[in-house]
Amino acid sequence: MKKTLLSILRDKNTSRLHFRDAANRLASIIGAESALCLQEDTYTIETPLGKAQGYRYEDNIILIPILRSGLVLLRGFLEYFPHAKIGMLGMKRDEKTAIAKLYYKNIPSLQKDDRIFLLDPMIATGGSSCDAIRILKKEKIQEKNIHLFGIIASKEGIKAIKKAYPKVSIRVVDVDAKLNSAKYIVPGLGDFGDRYFGTM
Ligand code: URA
Repeated sequence: MKKTLLSILRDKNTSRLHFRDAANRLASIIGAESALCLQEDTYTIETPLGKAQGYRYEDNIILIPILRSGLVLLRGFLEYFPHAKIGMLGMKRDEKTAIAKLYYKNIPSLQKDDRIFLLDPMIATGGSSCDAIRILKKEKIQEKNIHLFGIIASKEGIKAIKKAYPKVSIRVVDVDAKLNSAKYIVPGLGDFGDRYFGTM
């Protein structure tokens, strides 16, 4: 299902309506699958007919979308973690240098053992992700508790993040081979935010 939805996103002829719909559905699946990174706690439930084992996840997850495209993943994660605290990191890439600049930071006060789900659909150079991880580590978050979720990453981006922060886990739907000279992922899907929000 994820690959089917990604194919709709990749297709340049997909309308904004269908792009949004596929992105929202994919965000929901990625949100559900993110639970694979979590520890399960077991407890006993009383069913109407007896006892059964119940499962629940830890409750210390903080969702941090990297604005603006990360907002699209956020809605999928909120379906499964509706009580999670949310932080925001706004990063805008300079179209000439492709280097992202932090323009907004608003994150809740963090505890050392909090688990951070960092959300960024397109991981191109890995620069924004590395900046975000550095900010979180400054707030005393442990690298092993940072999980980065995306839709497409470039090989180069993953390599850069893994080199700088080997304990951060990265989960994406697909990994593409290259970046072009403007640091867009190739074949990728174009500018995710522009296609989703309609700013083209
Ligand atoms: N951001 C996008 O939206 N697309 C890319 O290919 C790279 C970064």
